[in-house]
Order: sequence, then structure tokens, then C-alpha cells
Amino acid sequence: MPEIFLASRNPKKLIELERILGEVVPGLTVLGLDDVPPYDEPVEDAPDFAGNALLKARAGFAISGKPTLADDSGLCVDALNGMPGVLSARWGGQPKSDERNNRLLLDQLADVPDERRGAYFVSVVALVHEGGEILVEGRMNGHVIREVRGTGGFGYDVLFVADDRPGLTTAELDKDTKDAISHRGKALREIAPQVAEILI
Ligand code: IMP
Repeated sequence: MPEIFLASRNPKKLIELERILGEVVPGLTVLGLDDVPPYDEPVEDAPDFAGNALLKARAGFAISGKPTLADDSGLCVDALNGMPGVLSARWGGQPKSDERNNRLLLDQLADVPDERRGAYFVSVVALVHEGGEILVEGRMNGHVIREVRGTGGFGYDVLFVADDRPGLTTAELDKDTKDAISHRGKALREIAPQVAEILI
């Protein structure tokens, strides 16, 4: 049975990966952190998404010995010179809080006019296996609105309207619609055939 390890604490990512890769690799089992012996997960201190994704995937491969995927993602806001970027999860300080992150982002953009509120989500997915390392990147372009809206998704979804689905925040989209246009969905669909090649 083909197996892959996803070095992520996020159960939503595990399910998403299983769904997307399952279409390309029949019978694929996606192992999560709970399926391998506990280990010290690396501090995500690289200056960019690719560096952090690689840190996580390399550490996971070293422990599991199985082809390992990890992703690092975030929101890059034009008017903030690409921030919060790699700091997205902890933008509002510790402990991590989506609500505090969103409030801080709204405050920082309070004086920024509508036409300069462009932003994009990015996800870099790293695959580390015996034969080497592969990196892919997916993006979702859009803009940041002025008040939170929607109950789905997570993180900054309540403030983000994607160019591909104008009028709704990504927190107001159903799961399949978000997967179809999202940064992570794009990156995972791009890497899926390469995972299949390794596993089959
Ligand atoms: P990480 O990739 O798990 O380190 O998470 C990065 C952070 O970026 C998350 O905590 C969210 O704040 C933000 N983020 C990444 N992807 C999304 C998304 O699809 N929607 C909303 N926020 C996201």
C-alpha cells in the first residue's frame, strides 16, 4: 500500500491532501504526526515559505523514512510590502489567535483605500524523499475587505475576497469551491503527479 507522511498538525490539511492525492494515487494512506513516533518539530525560522516547508519536510522524512510532504503558507499584503507573509500565523503575537491577527490586519489597513488593498495567499509545498527534494508554489490573488465576513475556512479567510470569486470572502465559499481556487489546492494538484510517480 502506498504511504506518504504529511508533517502537519492541521487535520484539515491531512483530509485535503488525502482527497486531492487520492484521485491520482489509488489506495494512498496519508500518515499524520500522530502516526509516527513523537519528535522535536523544527522551529519555523526560515526567512521564506520554501525554507520553512523544507525544514518541516526534511525533519519528517528523517523520522518517518517515508516520502514526506509539508507546506508553509501565508497572506502577503501589497500595502504592507508582502507582510504578514511567513509571520501570518503569529502576526498578532503569541499565543496564536486568528481573531487577533485579523484585528491587527484591519487596523494596519484602516487608511488604505480600496484600490490598494490587493493581497495574495501563497502555499509552498515541499516533498522530500529518498531520491531528492521537490518544491511547488500555489497562489490565490484577491484583496482584503474592511470587516470580517463568513464562518467557514480559518485564519484570514474572513477578510479575503479572491479575484476568482468576487463578492464572497473565502470564509463564505463551500469547501470544494475554495479547494478549486486556493493556493494550497493549486500547489497540491501540481505536486500530485510527482508524488504518484514516486509511490506507484
Ligand atoms: P501554516 O502554513 O500552517 O504555518 O499557517 C500559516 C498561516 O497563514 C495560517 O495560520 C493562517 O493565518 C494563514 N493562512 C494560510 N492559508 C490560509 C487560508 O487558506 N486561509 C486563511 N488563512 C490562511
